[in-house]
Formats: sequence, structure tokens, C-alpha cells
Amino acid sequence: MAHHDHTLHLHILGSGSKGNCALVEGPEGLVMIDCGFSRRETLNRMHELGLEETQVRALLITHEHGDHTGGMPVWCRRFDGEVFASAGTLQARKATAEVDAHEFMPGDVLQVAGLTVETFPTSHDVVNPVGFRFSCGDDAVGFATDTGFVTPGALRLLRDARILAIESNHDLPMLRTGDYPRYLQDRIASNEGHLSNAQAAEAVRELVGEHTQQLVAMHISQENNRLSLAVRALAEALGAQLDNELGSSATLVRRNGPDLHIRAAGQNRPISVW
Ligand SMILES: [Zn+2]
Ligand SMILES: [Zn+2]
Repeated sequence: MAHHDHTLHLHILGSGSKGNCALVEGPEGLVMIDCGFSRRETLNRMHELGLEETQVRALLITHEHGDHTGGMPVWCRRFDGEVFASAGTLQARKATAEVDAHEFMPGDVLQVAGLTVETFPTSHDVVNPVGFRFSCGDDAVGFATDTGFVTPGALRLLRDARILAIESNHDLPMLRTGDYPRYLQDRIASNEGHLSNAQAAEAVRELVGEHTQQLVAMHISQENNRLSLAVRALAEALGAQLDNELGSSATLVRRNGPDLHIRAAGQNRPISVW
């Protein structure tokens, strides 16, 4: 099936501890996930991918950490789309207090800009963090970052999405031998921290199904990981072959279905996933 037949696309403006923002493109426009860049940076990166501000219909927030909400106050000042955040996120975040947002609970199902958005709890050191499954017709995008383990909700709702974006934050040996103080290492590796390459690799064995065609490693640490390490871990778990010596992407060729493409989202290089 050629890519233009698909209903949904995922545009990732940047992913990592210095800023997060992605956009799901559907038939009625764009739904923004998190707003962690300045307005100018957000617009610059959108333009790089051929996207316009006027296309953004709604903003969904995963949780209140600054790398996900830092750009919100300014963005929302000139934004007339709907904003959605969990009860815990809204209570915790001063920046969102002035924003007129729809409040939901993890597990709720939202209707946003023609898309069905199923929310599920992730596990992070905040109240009510969430991940999402976006669907429209028979196309689906699964999205989960900032979670210490793959929660039951994630296992259920991310399964067999055509586009699957999942955190692969750190290489555990790099984290444990790196420069971060012990308490910070422990926080990152904890059940309320971030997914390691090995955890992501184990998860995708469960989550990748016959319909999954695009797998993207997300929220990769610039200190405790490398994009190629994350791609390699996912490729090995699925029996995929690296596309080049850099190891920046990999492909699983399937005899009886579409190929699966594996890559990693960086902090500073916007990508569009079709
Ligand atoms: Zn984060
Ligand atoms: Zn976080």
C-alpha cells in the first residue's frame, strides 16, 4: 500500500529532555502533542516540514514537565484550538492554569479534530501522566514517552498501531557509568522515570503487529544514549536489518505484508513519518 493511502501521519518537531513537540496529521488538520519549544522554534520547525500554524486544531499534553509544556503559555495566547490535559497535569502546572483546557482522566476517550484519541496512564514522577492512541478509520498512531515501564494501558492501546512512537530514553550501561549523580540515575531508571533501550526493545516484541509499518524511538537522551544504539536495540528485538553502517535506521522486510521501518527521533531534527 502506498503511503498516500494512509489517513494519519506523525510529524515530530523534536524529542528529548530539551523539548518535545509532535503533531498528528488527520483529515481535519493537526493535533499537537506537547508544547515544549518556544513559539518561534515551534513555527520554524513546522515550516521545515511544510506545516502551517493555522492547521493546528488542538493541543494535547502528556504531563507538566517543562520539556513538554515550556512553550505553552505563549503558544496558547494566540491559539484558538482546543487544549486537553489530565486533571493531575492541570492542577500541577501553573503555566496551564491560565489556559482554558478540557480536563480528562487517564483512560478517557476523546474526540479531537475528527480523530478518536484513547488515553492511557503512563508511569512517571507526576500525577496522571498519559500516552495516546490516535485512530481514524482503520489507521492508528500510538504514542508513549516519559514512562518508567510499559504500563498495561500502553500494552493494550499501542498494540499493532501502524505508526508506533515509543520512548527509548537511555542505554542502561551508559547511564550507570555516565556523569549523572547517583540520585538522578536512580530516578531515570526507576519505575517512574524513563524507558531504557532494553525495555523498549522488550516492549516492541509485544506491540509491533502485522499492521505496524513505522516504529520511532523517542525521547532519546543526549548524555546516556545514541540514536544508533536505540535503533539497533529495536532492530535486534524484531529481527530487522540496519539500513546503513551508521545504524540510523533499519528495515524488517516481510514476505506477506508491508515492510516495517525503524528510526529514531532526535532533539533537533524534525521528521515526518508517513
Ligand atoms: Zn520529557
Ligand atoms: Zn517528564
